[in-house]
Amino acid sequence: MTTTTPQKLPSWFRQDIPNIEKIRSMQKMFRSTGLHTVCESARCPNMGKCWGQGVATFMILGEICTRACRFCAVKAGHPMKVDEKEPKHIADAVKALQLRYVVITSVARDDLPDEGAQHFYETIQAVRQAMPNIKIEVLIPDFSNKWDSLKVVVDAKPEVVSHNVESVKRLSNRIRPQASYERSLDVLRNFKKLDRDIFTKSSIMVGLGETEEELISTMKDLLAVECDILTIGQYLAPTQLKRHLPVETFYTPDQFKSLKTLGMKLGFKHVMSGPLVRSSFIAEEGYRECVESLG
Ligand code: SF4
Repeated sequence: MTTTTPQKLPSWFRQDIPNIEKIRSMQKMFRSTGLHTVCESARCPNMGKCWGQGVATFMILGEICTRACRFCAVKAGHPMKVDEKEPKHIADAVKALQLRYVVITSVARDDLPDEGAQHFYETIQAVRQAMPNIKIEVLIPDFSNKWDSLKVVVDAKPEVVSHNVESVKRLSNRIRPQASYERSLDVLRNFKKLDRDIFTKSSIMVGLGETEEELISTMKDLLAVECDILTIGQYLAPTQLKRHLPVETFYTPDQFKSLKTLGMKLGFKHVMSGPLVRSSFIAEEGYRECVESLG
């Protein structure tokens, strides 16, 4: 197996010691019902913080992805059989955690005719039934931009639909060979066509070799499809294996602040930008700011 030399993280990545007991109790709850979280599967660096506060992002449709993106820690390969009980198990976990806001994502399921849209629908419905006042954000794969699949998700009425462009246009094919920058923009555009009341959101990872001009163009492309919320975070290579791209640059906290200022100036309703920012990190804040922006 070919590997590269591990990269040392700058000092600003240091974090407080997590609440291990809380993390263990959440792990136990998820394991007992076969639930998956992107927090664990994607080796998110915020697990200590989020799980310590009883917040997790659920990953539905199994833990094996049909795509093999070069930035992602989620396993790729032959996908799992869809668990019909999963929507109920997610709803039970959300209720047990007493969440006010939940983010639900999934692996890509190119093997399914609707790529998993109906399962999203059923999961949203089950969560709403269990917790009528909850706000729901879904972070979806591109569903190959199939109109019918996008519509199924919209019909379930999540408050926020998120779909990540992940990177600037020039690097997109390299880091997501089975996806496309334009298609991701089309997905976001189509959600607004389907329902103008849904807030849309996207994320960019930095440190993969992009330029500032390219980041500005990406922000403008997202605004052109009426994307409301943007998150920007530092790319961290999930492993040193060759299949994962190495970090080209570590942005400083000040550079992240500048990107936030820039994004807000360009017109996003909310921008969260920081070394450890991930799409689902303190996601409720973005939704709240969007609601407030409506007056
Ligand atoms: S940022 Fe999102 S994925 Fe990471 S630990 Fe928090 S909830 Fe999980």
